[in-house]
Amino acid sequence: MHKVLIVTRTFGKYSNEPIELLKNKGFEIFKGDNIDSLEGFDALIVGTNKVTRNMLENSSIKIIAKHGVGVDNIDLKAATQLGIPVTITLGANSSSVAELTIAYIFTLSRNLINVHKELFENRVWGSHIGIEIAGKILGIIGFGSIGREVAKRAVCLGMKVLIYDPYVHKEQIEKFDVKMVDLETVLKESDFVSLHVPLVDETRKMIGEKELNLMKPSAFLINTSRGGLVDELALANALKSKKIAGAALDVFENEPLKDSPLFECENVIMTPHIGAHTFEAIYKMNMMAAKSIIEFFEGQIPENVVNKEVIEILKKNGFKK
Ligand code: NAD
Repeated sequence: MHKVLIVTRTFGKYSNEPIELLKNKGFEIFKGDNIDSLEGFDALIVGTNKVTRNMLENSSIKIIAKHGVGVDNIDLKAATQLGIPVTITLGANSSSVAELTIAYIFTLSRNLINVHKELFENRVWGSHIGIEIAGKILGIIGFGSIGREVAKRAVCLGMKVLIYDPYVHKEQIEKFDVKMVDLETVLKESDFVSLHVPLVDETRKMIGEKELNLMKPSAFLINTSRGGLVDELALANALKSKKIAGAALDVFENEPLKDSPLFECENVIMTPHIGAHTFEAIYKMNMMAAKSIIEFFEGQIPENVVNKEVIEILKKNGFKK
């Protein structure tokens, strides 16, 4: 019987179906909050916990199913060298993250959090002036699954959409009502700049003091991707000195967020990494992760393997597409 370790808070929490699916296929399930060791397990379903080379080398893990899409918590190089496929739940949470991004745009444009707090907590009948989002420019950095969902919604709301993604070709954006530009143009011209890139060496701290200085004083930064993309100290300084108008952040360099200069900024909205926390996204992520494990142990190459080099090894070992 294959042993599956599940280290993600939401697997099987709102529906038994993914757990039953694995059990009915004969898997033995173990759940944990942290990974101390992977010894003795055949498969891992993981959310944001770190998966190190040392853990993998001292285990008999044969497949890792990431419960989500960002694999920056997994030592992908080590997994590849050890021949372990890593799958992601591609597209399962794109609508949820895109909807949160749009919610941020509405909230920032009308300063809803502060207006609510003033009335609800202080009984102040204030008079706040907001902005309309129709006609405003949304700059999307990273035009993958989530970036595209955000763009579709923003266009429906009457926004103009600029995108920056050096890995997307012009033909791939033809069906979207968006304009492809360079990073500097996105930063200089947008009223809202939204990040949708993975955290890799190339993108780490891609938004720092220099980039924030390029943004308009009336512009807002939105990050639902990964905290490490932004220099948080530079962002806090830009918010305090009103170099930019505000920011909405779902993700932080160190989570859970404890001490941070961002807590001193009155023009920031912060949520505790809830981008994918909807019943729909969690169900889809649960089922896709479970199916990856099942497919693998039934001798099939699972869908959405991110370390493509391993696919060749699997084929040589008789795995079928
Ligand atoms: P995706 O792989 O479909 O898209 C990422 C896009 O970024 C790709 O089009 C890629 O070409 C582009 N990109 C890569 N490097 C770039 C660079 N240097 N500059 C500009 N573009 C670049 O991924 P996705 O599903 O859209 O998810 C994006 C990110 O969102 C994930 O990597 C993850 O970190 C984050 N995420 C967060 C939550 C949350 O709960 N807040 C949930 C899901 C995903």
